[in-house]
Amino acid sequence: EIHCRKIVFNEFGDPTKVARLVECSLPDRPDDQQVLVKMLLAPVNPSDINTIQGVYPVKPPLPSTPGFEGIGEVLAVGSAVKNLVPGDRVVHTGAIGTWCTAGIFDSKKLRKVSKDIDMYALSGISSNPCTAYRMLHDFVSLNKDDVVIQNGANSACGQNVIQLAKIFGFKTVNIIRSRPEPDLENLKNHLMSLGATNVLTQEELRTTELFKNGTLPKPRLGLNNVGGKSATEILRTLDNGGVMVTYGGMSREPVIAPTTSFIFKDIQLRGFWMTRWHRENANTEQQDKMYEALSQLMKENKLVAPAHNTLPLESFQEVVQNTISSKGFIGF
Ligand code: NDP
Repeated sequence: EIHCRKIVFNEFGDPTKVARLVECSLPDRPDDQQVLVKMLLAPVNPSDINTIQGVYPVKPPLPSTPGFEGIGEVLAVGSAVKNLVPGDRVVHTGAIGTWCTAGIFDSKKLRKVSKDIDMYALSGISSNPCTAYRMLHDFVSLNKDDVVIQNGANSACGQNVIQLAKIFGFKTVNIIRSRPEPDLENLKNHLMSLGATNVLTQEELRTTELFKNGTLPKPRLGLNNVGGKSATEILRTLDNGGVMVTYGGMSREPVIAPTTSFIFKDIQLRGFWMTRWHRENANTEQQDKMYEALSQLMKENKLVAPAHNTLPLESFQEVVQNTISSKGFIGF
């Protein structure tokens, strides 16, 4: 047996109240298709918090260990596992329970990865980078220099959109919430350095001439992870026939669409959930192609992890609280 520590929640609720650290032991010889993984790093995403709160569509049986993503090293494999051997580095895809020092996982929910890629970028690959990749490919057939507009642009997902769009040859107009100087200027500079074409605050978007004076063509794709007024403002900028994809609702406000957007501009409102895509495309050629493309870009340092804090498992409550303002990782 091997000793491990993990976060457990016995009921849904406030993560700072219902989640706690427990000691546990695991068999060192996993069954059949199972794999024993020593965890190295696990991101803390908004969906993890929502899962503990019980407000996410994924409701694991209780008690449960949170964490949909992470990176680790294989310690032992079951007799039926053919694709992995001890020593391999793996990321989780479609698993739950990564907030542990070691865990037993289904081999089908692990993907072998290269050891010479930055762990911070790679550990979160199945959520934000994949979401950005799919949203840029699956809704509008974009041509070189087409414009994509997005709110929540400084989110982890937004930063992936900026970097991938630049690589694919698309322009991005990036909307962020205002903040006091020098933070605002620093954030704008950071997003520009990642490849953003323009960065505007919500207020600047309302008065911008960017799309009026022909500096930029009107966006054909809008990406919304905020909702409320911010989503409506994104909609107003779209070109005729444009599509807005909603994939998050950080403001917790509903999406409100002007009637005229439908009648006179034939705007389409769509939604995207990466979890569903992974379920429907698990172990397909299309999924392999996406992972290969994204890991190659990470290897070349063209797709980098967002700014983050890393804290040990004991401090998970702090990571959970901080993840509202900057990406959190648990390091083991
Ligand atoms: P991060 O934790 O990296 O970033 C959070 C973002 O939300 C920041 O830009 C922050 O802006 C913004 N924000 C926080 N509170 C508010 C608010 N009240 N009003 C407006 N903006 C706010 O998040 P992720 O990139 O990991 O995720 C971003 C969103 O995308 C989440 O809603 C997440 O659930 C969703 N998502 C959805 C996926 C899907 O498959 N549908 C996959 C991946 C992510 P600020 O810096 O100004 O606070």
